[in-house]
Amino acid sequence: MQNASVTTTRGRTQPPLIASQFPIPFNRPSFLGREKEYMAQALEGGHISGDGPFSKACHSFFESQLGVAKALITTSCTHALEMTALLLDIQPGDEVILPAYTFVSTANAFVLRGARPVFIDVRPDTMNFDERLFERAITARTRAAVPVHYAGVGCEMDQIMTIAHRHGVAIVEDNAHGLFGKYRGKLLGTFGKMSTLSFHETKNFSCGEGGALIVNDESLVERAEIIREKGTNRSRFFRGLVDKYTWTDVGSSYLPSDLLAAVLLAQLELKDEIQSRRQAIWERYDSGLESWARRSGVQLPVIPADREQTYHMFYLLMPSLESRTRLIDALKIAGILSVFHYLPLHLSEVGRRFGGREGQCPVTEDLSDRLLRLPFFTTLTADEQDRVIEQIVDFEV
Ligand SMILES: *Cc1c(COP(=O)(O)O)cnc(C)c1O
Repeated sequence: MQNASVTTTRGRTQPPLIASQFPIPFNRPSFLGREKEYMAQALEGGHISGDGPFSKACHSFFESQLGVAKALITTSCTHALEMTALLLDIQPGDEVILPAYTFVSTANAFVLRGARPVFIDVRPDTMNFDERLFERAITARTRAAVPVHYAGVGCEMDQIMTIAHRHGVAIVEDNAHGLFGKYRGKLLGTFGKMSTLSFHETKNFSCGEGGALIVNDESLVERAEIIREKGTNRSRFFRGLVDKYTWTDVGSSYLPSDLLAAVLLAQLELKDEIQSRRQAIWERYDSGLESWARRSGVQLPVIPADREQTYHMFYLLMPSLESRTRLIDALKIAGILSVFHYLPLHLSEVGRRFGGREGQCPVTEDLSDRLLRLPFFTTLTADEQDRVIEQIVDFEV
């Protein structure tokens, strides 16, 4: 995979080897637009700290494309999630309901504030937060719930929002996979009080490390700006709304350099091209693997008819852990890197400290052993993809 060691020869630091050793890697960062040109402009323009011209252009892009009250780019989706916990004033002892099958940051952001994560299982078809288990997980201490739109296929948001309103539980959507996806015609990330995006290297749009906080609840906008700017009213100061900038709240530094915003903007400008290339890749896997999957007892991704997905990933749900391990090995021998992810959070070391136990989320426990992600990135070529497909259809489950 990646060799992170930095070797020093004759006093010069060599950049670490990052090229994958696999001819067909799992991910390869793809730059199809004006990334370099915009980075050079940012360097020459002299504003490389946060909220320079490229950051502002990213904010306007999201606000107009998503029609949301406020978009603020952040240093990561993890940090955007931490901001949501601060904005909701999550206190020690509060409970936050999360899917057991997700990335650690979904939980950590709230655990950092002293909250107790309450893990619920996911649906066996979409791997999404199971709305049928949501209501019974709510107690008097529940403050928030964080559905994750897994693989950019929306959760059952009508049911989730109805239950949340009934109990006064705030919804934060972890939309790391779901930018531009839709549930019943409505954009993912526009349902909850807030949602978060990721621009990590492995996501559809990337600036290496980055994210965004989307604020749908107008009443949280001003405080979101303050928390993101070290707890100061600096953005109001720059807009001439106050004549001094001071410490007004808790906060941290969650704004990325404008250099990263320059990279991100170049990618956002190519939204349609990036998404249509990814759609073609997704569909090529789906049609190329369909009959093999059917005869081998392998489940391919399920996209309900009322969802528009984002073509973030393509996964196989193998019949067993044993067959998954054999397929990973067979692909490795052919120079293809496939990966799996999300060990059940409730069974992790931290999850167990919060009472997580075997059998608590049976769907998560089962699929976490069987799910396999295939190489998927915007510049994956049809030839490369065909090699992956050939290897898989030759594989005897
Ligand atoms: C990638 C990811 C994150 C974290 O994103 P970063 O930008 O790396 O912090 C959070 N949640 C989910 C579901 C993710 O896939």
